[in-house]
Amino acid sequence: MKKFFTAVLISGIALSLCGCGNGNPKQIKSVDTAIGTVVQQSIYSTERDDWERSAVTGEITAMLKSMEEQELSWRLESSEVFRINESAGTEKGFLLSSDLQEILQRSLEVGSASEGAFDITLSPVVRLWNMDSWAAGELSGNYVLPEPEALQQALSLCGSKRLRIEENRAFLPAGMAIDLGAVGKGIAADKIHNFLCRNDKITGAIISVGGTVLTYGEKPDKTSWQVGVVNPIEPAEFIGILSLEGQWCVSTSGDYERYVEVDGVRYHHIINPATGFPADSGVAGVTVLSKDGFLSDALSTACFVLGAEKGMQLAEQYDAEVLFVKQDGTVVMTEGMEKVYRRAQ
Ligand code: AMP
Ligand code: MG
Repeated sequence: MKKFFTAVLISGIALSLCGCGNGNPKQIKSVDTAIGTVVQQSIYSTERDDWERSAVTGEITAMLKSMEEQELSWRLESSEVFRINESAGTEKGFLLSSDLQEILQRSLEVGSASEGAFDITLSPVVRLWNMDSWAAGELSGNYVLPEPEALQQALSLCGSKRLRIEENRAFLPAGMAIDLGAVGKGIAADKIHNFLCRNDKITGAIISVGGTVLTYGEKPDKTSWQVGVVNPIEPAEFIGILSLEGQWCVSTSGDYERYVEVDGVRYHHIINPATGFPADSGVAGVTVLSKDGFLSDALSTACFVLGAEKGMQLAEQYDAEVLFVKQDGTVVMTEGMEKVYRRAQ
């Protein structure tokens, strides 16, 4: 009994000493761009040294930039995705890193679970629409829509069932290419999460990478994290707020994020692989909640294409929660989402 008390006492002293040494968490904030989107960070750290504390946000941005250069960019010659695409049609294929192999395998898995609604081989169609030149709210006077024949030709070069992965190698038929735009922000959130876990001075963080938000740990005042759900019909406003405890990933896909308007018709960036046209499933925005950033991001895109009914079933398969804002402004969500959601005032 005495031994037990001594042990508790000693560990108590050790804990309080540790608390003294670290001090109270202080907030560090930054806004930057990486992987083609805005990265907003708010991190709480007990690091006493001001310089060391604020270096963390820079390290995270640098990590994302390197991930883009080394792995995810379809544009940069240095990236694995670029080199996989370059290897299309060759017998040797491309030798994958373990990270990329996992990303591709998981993408194919979501592709088949969504019956093709999610497809990382849509690159020929995405490039034909020239989506990278679009920005939210841009009214493009001189944008020319793809010709139907060109669209059919591009579509004939898509279909993730034709991407083979064998013995760490990826094999794409000639003319095909992959585009990880639908999962890049979620992969980034997972990387950031691992980074935060490795730094014992960081007690809490809320970080957004475009439409994906990562929460981690806790705030010094112990109140929950508040993540706004954008109203896709009035994107300057929130339609609701999620109150979250600890680590979560929240990804949103919406028709307001990237689009062009031609003759009063909006063409947005989420493609229905069955038609090659922007998905029109009655949904204007989808928000997915999961512990896993890759999944939240992949599922938000897939659920946008599938629409509310089928999208809910897909999210359930992955134990993810989902919220749909339909084009008429009505909101439907899974039970688990209801528990953390409140309507914005
Ligand atoms: P997100 O904003 O996460 O929904 O991702 C949209 C991006 O993913 C687009 O800009 C395209 O690069 C790509 N994309 C578009 N439609 C699909 C789809 N059905 N499946 C997978 N990727 C897609
Ligand atoms: Mg996505």
